[in-house]
Amino acid sequence: MESKHKYFSLAELLRSETAEKRGIPNVPSADVVAELHRLMDYLDSVRENYGAPIRVSSGYRSPALNAAVGGKPTSQHLKGQAADLVTDDLKKLGNVIRRFGGFDQLIYEHVGGARWIHVSIAPEGRPPRGEVLYITK
Ligand SMILES: [Zn+2]
Repeated sequence: MESKHKYFSLAELLRSETAEKRGIPNVPSADVVAELHRLMDYLDSVRENYGAPIRVSSGYRSPALNAAVGGKPTSQHLKGQAADLVTDDLKKLGNVIRRFGGFDQLIYEHVGGARWIHVSIAPEGRPPRGEVLYITK
């Protein structure tokens, strides 16, 4: 499946520092790749509205990688439906996503010294929940 995205690449959504460091394979199924393409469509629109660079710190996670980073077993990262986003201005990014809508979950995460925004798309055939959550650990 070949589809073009303006701002995001499959490689960026598959790349994981933890996977590289620990030698954990992070290879998606064809179904997951299809979901990652839907996710990139969404992220492209967000990026267009935001108007500045957005970095993906975590996209797809294989079950082994998800366990290694302490993700929930139900995480949408396992399905290729979620990405963790980092920018210079997370508050602005959150506002842009909320205004744009169409997301399943938007989670402001503040873990240790790190901050990022988790955004997910709904599975095909289910309307997006538009849920906004805050997680501080
Ligand atoms: Zn996440």
